[in-house]
Amino acid sequence: MTRIYNFSPGPSVLPLPVLERAQKDLLDWPGAGHSVMEMSHRSKWFETIIGDAREKLRTLMNIPANYSILFLQGGASLQFAMVPYNLMPAGGCADYVDSGSFASKALEEGLRLGDARAIASSKQDGYAYVPQVDFAKLSPGAAYLHITTNNTIFGTRWPAIPDSPVPLVADMSSNIMGEVYDVSKFALIYAGAQKNIGPAGLTVVIIREDMIGHARPGTPTMLDYRTHDKSDSLYNTPCCWAIYVAGLVFDWLLEQGGVPAIEEVNRQKAALLYDVIDNSSLYTGVARPDCRSLMNVTFTLPTQELTAAFVNDAKNRGLISLKGHRSAGGIRASIYNAMPVEGVQALAQFMKDFEAAN
Ligand SMILES: *Cc1c(COP(=O)(O)O)cnc(C)c1O
Repeated sequence: MTRIYNFSPGPSVLPLPVLERAQKDLLDWPGAGHSVMEMSHRSKWFETIIGDAREKLRTLMNIPANYSILFLQGGASLQFAMVPYNLMPAGGCADYVDSGSFASKALEEGLRLGDARAIASSKQDGYAYVPQVDFAKLSPGAAYLHITTNNTIFGTRWPAIPDSPVPLVADMSSNIMGEVYDVSKFALIYAGAQKNIGPAGLTVVIIREDMIGHARPGTPTMLDYRTHDKSDSLYNTPCCWAIYVAGLVFDWLLEQGGVPAIEEVNRQKAALLYDVIDNSSLYTGVARPDCRSLMNVTFTLPTQELTAAFVNDAKNRGLISLKGHRSAGGIRASIYNAMPVEGVQALAQFMKDFEAAN
């Protein structure tokens, strides 16, 4: 078996022990005699699987008891709509920080349902940093403030989470559990699973209880957080397999020492690449240094030809999916929790070798 190092932005690398465990349990989830993929979501077995996953996530992120954890589908992109359906009253308004492509998509979706406003944006500067928020400029009566903790495409992150006077909603898709966050600062956190949690198909929502039950009239049943809260995420058939594998990832993270320990590793991994960039005359970092992501490291080379050669030569060394997003260009190395230090070391060495040869 040859496992390459996969720097894909998502779906992305999973921890090897998780894949091995899933493989081992594939035909017979211990004691059940059949696979989680074939199992009724109403069975005792699956109740255990989903309940354990929820409690492990609560432990990992230190989620207070007055927050509900929902396992949904539809990706982070459906949350762009569910958030305003549930939190913004008809005729109301909400504020957004436009810090990247996904942030602006969230804003657009908010605009379909009401008066959604960008109160800060770094668009004019190519989203190279997270814009400063002036809380004096919040819209009067704003139902919430929406932020994106890590901007996957441009490789930026919020250096610190502000204390918001209005409910704070965060798209944490690409750095959930990658660093420690104080959940109590947020009214709602959501994340597509396929970056730092598990396989694609699962969306995790962490919502403070008082935010549930205010969906505007006409909200479809499936888009009302209350539906899923009341039924412990079993209103309809959930994405059973993805939830099960996410639970294995949670086990793995707990074994690593939890989020504080993995954050430390993540800082070291990111530093390996930023050091190469900062000491290079070939590579230029995209993100402003004070906003650099720990998860997505973005940089450019002087020409398209060099960029293409970089991606190609890296592939030949078993380092794949380094091409930047089509809207941003350049190179992006996604180094989520499951990317081993060895993979990042191999990339850092490759970057030095490529520079020496070019
Ligand atoms: C990947 C990503 C999304 C889109 O997620 P889907 O699950 O594909 O809808 C949204 N926001 C951020 C920050 C992301 O990284």
